[in-house]
Amino acid sequence: MPLTNVRPTAELQALDAAHHMHPFTDQSSLAKKGARIIVRGEGSWLTDSEGERILDGMSGLWCVNVGYGRERLVQAADRQMRELPYYNTFFQTTHIPAIDLAAKLAEICPGDLNHVFFAGSGSEANDTNLRMVRHYWALKGKPSKSWIISRKNGYHGSSVGSGSMGGMAGIHAQGGLPIPGIRHIDQPYWYLEGGDASPEDFGRARARQLETAIDEIGEDNVAAFIAEPIQGAGGVIIPPENYWPEIQRICDEREILLICDEVITGFGRTGHWFGHQAIGARPDIITIAKGLSSGYLPIGGSVVSDEVAEVIGSDEFNHGYTYSGHPVAAAVALENLAIIEEEKLVQRVHDDVGPYIREKWLSLVDHPLVGEATIVGLMGSIALTPHKPSRARFASEAGTVGYICREFSFGNNLIMRHVYDRMIIAPPLVITREEIDILIERVWKTLDQTHARLKDEGLL
Ligand code: PMP
Repeated sequence: MPLTNVRPTAELQALDAAHHMHPFTDQSSLAKKGARIIVRGEGSWLTDSEGERILDGMSGLWCVNVGYGRERLVQAADRQMRELPYYNTFFQTTHIPAIDLAAKLAEICPGDLNHVFFAGSGSEANDTNLRMVRHYWALKGKPSKSWIISRKNGYHGSSVGSGSMGGMAGIHAQGGLPIPGIRHIDQPYWYLEGGDASPEDFGRARARQLETAIDEIGEDNVAAFIAEPIQGAGGVIIPPENYWPEIQRICDEREILLICDEVITGFGRTGHWFGHQAIGARPDIITIAKGLSSGYLPIGGSVVSDEVAEVIGSDEFNHGYTYSGHPVAAAVALENLAIIEEEKLVQRVHDDVGPYIREKWLSLVDHPLVGEATIVGLMGSIALTPHKPSRARFASEAGTVGYICREFSFGNNLIMRHVYDRMIIAPPLVITREEIDILIERVWKTLDQTHARLKDEGLL
């Protein structure tokens, strides 16, 4: 039933198609179809302009960790807007939300990650990292250490710097990216790229590509390695268990910085405060955004070690954004962290809803279309395949089947995302057991519909 207090869907869709340019979207095909208009959110649920209730299996874009409709976050923004809606921290001034949020992050981040450089988003924070690590080495008298090593199919944002560090072929194909000085090694994606190797042999080999790359470029020319603890936008790719210990060993033995991009994996997503704790890495810098404010307002940042902060602090760092540490965003982020702590959401993912969904999610591998099902905390994925034993890909263009599956999922009022022919979920950390049951039921239904369609179309 269309909502009576919202303008007609067709009218909104026509305006949207006429004037609104969507990110990562083929505008002309969307215009023909009309975008689904989301008007409201509550807990793990969205409502669209037709009055349909949709279970948000993706927390928006992996960000609404505390769920929709949090009055406390509204109040925090309201208070801060009345008190001081904006001020900057550029020219020897500061303000209370930025101070408190930086101190709080220093408290919850492990080890000596005690210093925060704020940004407005994950992309901006990674652009900060790119400049900061190079400047760090220049200040240490080693300006040649400027190369960044990252990974194919990694995602670090879509600005010039972050999109270059990321290894997304689609991004590199447009606008002259990547910029020079970045080397992309292969990803630890055993399921699709492991061939006959055991996950362990493959994990070791992929990690050792870092060692080879550093040796080829020369340790004196490499500034940092950046990676997501678990690739998110690449398809929720969980590396073999020995991959990260090997990466850590290589970083320890060489003089380079390790940046863990925690934009998705931060703030409870994996059942730990940060993903690097789940995989046992010791980064010098972490990138944060998304779950920091549960997406209620845009904010991101780089949390850096005592040593990095000390070196960077020895000179003026000519970098910053108008909205670095925006007071309203910072106040909302602080309140969001208070909710995560008070409601023990990290433990909830670790001990309760994480194990509960895990069992059900892993059993999706019993479906004839599913070649692999994996999950860590509340980020999971399944690989669709025409032939399980060989982990084969579909003959159709990569992503066609994933798109069909996503369309069925949307039709079933469950938001799942597809990355090529991999389906992914990352529901809010507040999702209940009952909602998980609904999610799993809708996934099975979606897979059955996809299976039937593929048979009809001769794709199976
Ligand atoms: N890093 C990672 C790991 C991400 O997943 C994303 C966004 N999906 C970004 C960086 C970029 O963040 P933003 O979209 O806020 O610029």
